[in-house]
Amino acid sequence: MNLQTELNVAIEAVKKAAQLTKNVQDNLIAADSVEKKDRSPVTIADLGTQALVNIAVRAAFPDDALIGEEDSNILKENADLRAKVMALVAGEIPGTTESTMLEAIDMGAGETDYQKRYWTLDPIDGTKGFMRGDQYAIALALVVDGKVQLGVLGCPNYPLETADPSKKGAIFYAVAGEGAFELPLNTDTPKRIRVDGHKDGEHARFCESVEAAHADHDTHAAISQHVGITAEPYRIDSQCKYAAVARGDASIYLRLPRSLTYREKIWDHAAGVIVVKEAGGKVSDFSGNELNFALGRKLEDNIGILATNGSLHANVLSAISETVALTE
Ligand code: AMP
Ligand code: MG
Repeated sequence: MNLQTELNVAIEAVKKAAQLTKNVQDNLIAADSVEKKDRSPVTIADLGTQALVNIAVRAAFPDDALIGEEDSNILKENADLRAKVMALVAGEIPGTTESTMLEAIDMGAGETDYQKRYWTLDPIDGTKGFMRGDQYAIALALVVDGKVQLGVLGCPNYPLETADPSKKGAIFYAVAGEGAFELPLNTDTPKRIRVDGHKDGEHARFCESVEAAHADHDTHAAISQHVGITAEPYRIDSQCKYAAVARGDASIYLRLPRSLTYREKIWDHAAGVIVVKEAGGKVSDFSGNELNFALGRKLEDNIGILATNGSLHANVLSAISETVALTE
């Protein structure tokens, strides 16, 4: 499957989205005092990103479905928010009209045949991190026949591999069979990335959500102890966790929901999964099964997400089976 055009379109769309979200985080969120922080900057950035990416994907691939997290209802009722989103979108795609913007957002809210070809988008994954001025990701993926074929993760605050902490922001991307790459924002020079080579827990560390409500930190600690990990967990918001594993900043990403009835959303994983796999890693659920993206907006068949460098996968799965009861 040649997906070069799809990749170019996705990278350009995510670059624009990263510019939009950076504007909001730097100007609106940073300006708000902690006491009066409300969610409207997140809403503006979320909807602005969904509009930008959908406009770009729809222009290039008019027949493709695009499943996104958001719809435009709140903008229909709130003229102030609508004007703010409009200004941001027109800043990146001059000439966009209000109706084009609203239609583009709502393209993402429909349904499709998930067994065929569709795109999925999380316009701002890790909204809690975004609000804190911390990590978040723009996550866009193309799924064909239930398998992710292309993923682009925009991580505007993710540190680059230099000693200078002010150097941050990269796009991580992968196409099935073609490897995984890191493209620092504002450059045109991608670099191939690979998972680390740790084979046991001694030198490994794992990453997990910052938000304790999104993942069971205590069980993760028990699993990692079983694997022999002594390093502190690397807590980081959003699918930047997949980027961390893909680049070897961590060897493992653990995600067990607090409730076994919770089902993960496709847009929270699709892009990250292929980036890790193409970097040489492995991704499964906590039972060792592949994630199934053909079942709708949620990963109905999968409980727990495990992404690793590959070398540690069997070891962590066995620790999971001895630590966690996965039946409800
Ligand atoms: P993270 O940045 O790892 O905390 O993950 C952010 C994602 O967690 C959001 O995009 C939500 O879709 C998802 N999420 C929200 N509630 C839960 C929950 N109860 N369990 C697991 N994930 C959740
Ligand atoms: Mg998300």
